[in-house]
Amino acid sequence: MQFIDLNAQQQRIAADVDARIKAVLAHGRYILGPEVTELEERLADYVGVRHCVGVASGTDALLVALMALDIGPGDEVITSPFTFVATAEVIALLGAVPKFVDIDPVSYNIDPDRVESAISPRTRAIMPVSLYGQCANMDAINTIAERHGLPVIEDAAQSFGATYKGRRSCGLSTIGCTSFFPSKPLGAYGDGGACFTDDDELAARIRQAMNHGQDKRYSHPRLGINGRLDTLQAAVLVAKLAIFPDEVERRAAVGARYTALLQARGAQSIKDSREGLLTPHVDPDNTSVFAQYTLQVDDRDAVVAKLMAEDIPTAVHYPIPLNRQGAYAHYCCPDCTPNADRAAARVLSLPMHPYLSAEDAERVADAVAYPGSAGSQPVWAAAE
Ligand SMILES: *Cc1c(COP(=O)(O)O)cnc(C)c1O
Repeated sequence: MQFIDLNAQQQRIAADVDARIKAVLAHGRYILGPEVTELEERLADYVGVRHCVGVASGTDALLVALMALDIGPGDEVITSPFTFVATAEVIALLGAVPKFVDIDPVSYNIDPDRVESAISPRTRAIMPVSLYGQCANMDAINTIAERHGLPVIEDAAQSFGATYKGRRSCGLSTIGCTSFFPSKPLGAYGDGGACFTDDDELAARIRQAMNHGQDKRYSHPRLGINGRLDTLQAAVLVAKLAIFPDEVERRAAVGARYTALLQARGAQSIKDSREGLLTPHVDPDNTSVFAQYTLQVDDRDAVVAKLMAEDIPTAVHYPIPLNRQGAYAHYCCPDCTPNADRAAARVLSLPMHPYLSAEDAERVADAVAYPGSAGSQPVWAAAE
């Protein structure tokens, strides 16, 4: 079994991808070619915002979003410690300070109730992460941001295609940023990313920032980077976008199937318990794209070993909160994010992709819920 099987999808779109790649090779506009513009228009339309700017990666999307907002040395950006390192990395790279605020233990996303007290006179932005494919509590965050005149950047690297109160992730805040890393819900065949905004002025600044700060050739009014989206990757993404709505539905179905199978074997929802085998909870305001299907277990090492023995790959997203990482430890008290600490010690992600079969889901659920060699001892019972 594969953790993420990209093969089934590739077979589905092979002819279209081939034709689009050949078209790029024929016109030869490898940098900012017509496929980039085509993709940007389609993505903006899909998300329901005025502007999409393709960029070289999800990391660059976050970086140019911060640059467009003129965030720099001495500024503070409030974010989650329970995320992929890129979220805090871009803040620190600009000389700003990532202010880590603990997560909500049910959603794994930044806890809005803790955000306001973290705001200081130096705070310049709030950067929630929509982890595992489910949007953060954006209304609560936007309300606090408005009260303090702060922009909100959604790190939607894992949530592209998800909805919050019927609106799409990436279109829920001042700027939305996503990633097209191959294993993300909408993945390219290499690196890629995008920024989304309804603000014309910000869109122009983002477009400059990702292309050496230039407004026209050899004119550079602003500082920028080489952060352009590759034409070949844009061509691949246009092909993939055609089947993406169907894949989003399949992802939701696989997630729901896992939850039903595991709960039938004794697991509880993380909404109702903090101990034992816990399935993720999708808030009624949300639909999740399940970038990861992430459980909690009591004895992770034992479950991982059992699954490995049955040829079922797993992953831990993420074993160490960023405020406990060497590069970031000086930004925040290490002990002020107990929910992130507990999640980091207990989370376990299962194989997840739109084409995961019902049989495979059942095999995984059996292996997770009955890890003892006798096959009869549920993992949560062993801990009691
Ligand atoms: C993947 C990811 C990123 C970075 O995206 P890249 O395209 O790999 O640069 C940023 N934030 C989160 C939450 C991610 O999962």
